[in-house]
Amino acid sequence: MPQNKKIAIFDVDEVLLDMWGPMHKKLEDFQERKINDDEWVQIIRDFDQDPRPYFEFGKYFMGSSIFERLNAKRGMKQTLQALSANGWDLAIVTSAPPTKEVELKRRKNLHYAFGDVFVSIDCVGSKDKKARIADLAAKYEESMFVDDNPAIVQQSVGIVTYPIWRYNLPHSYALEKLDLSKAKIAKTSSDILKIAGKTSSVRAISERGR
Ligand SMILES: [Mg+2]
Repeated sequence: MPQNKKIAIFDVDEVLLDMWGPMHKKLEDFQERKINDDEWVQIIRDFDQDPRPYFEFGKYFMGSSIFERLNAKRGMKQTLQALSANGWDLAIVTSAPPTKEVELKRRKNLHYAFGDVFVSIDCVGSKDKKARIADLAAKYEESMFVDDNPAIVQQSVGIVTYPIWRYNLPHSYALEKLDLSKAKIAKTSSDILKIAGKTSSVRAISERGR
């Protein structure tokens, strides 16, 4: 059992790093046309249903220099620092493809945005996310998992102590078919901290401090 008893596991795109903006721009370059915001949201939904038409674009995007220089999501650096200060181990499970090249770019980008704060960074592809989250959570007494895709949050229900959906408008349509009643919703980065603050160990720490 690790010394820390709590682990916070994060998805990367649109939870830790801003991706929609740069990706939208790159798709415009790739298709050599303007794509308005409504169409962009529709494209994300289409991708969720069937990603195959976007494989070529995916390679183009992940091969571009912007893919290793995505910015930290607003407030996320402070949230990670505060979680860490409250005894949470920080880990990443991302559905980015598990190739050496992509993994290296991810690690570089995350290091640039947040420093060396993660106990593990796993690029597992979309199919193996659930198994990896379960492996990590099993080693801790308390765990949280944060993802902007509600379908993946639902997979973590019953596996982690606190499944958290990081609100993301383009993904919100999927809620209709899901039951997220056991998950919490974080509208902002600091909402993740508020949820963590209600967990038993953080309460115990703050009570001891009184
Ligand atoms: Mg994501």
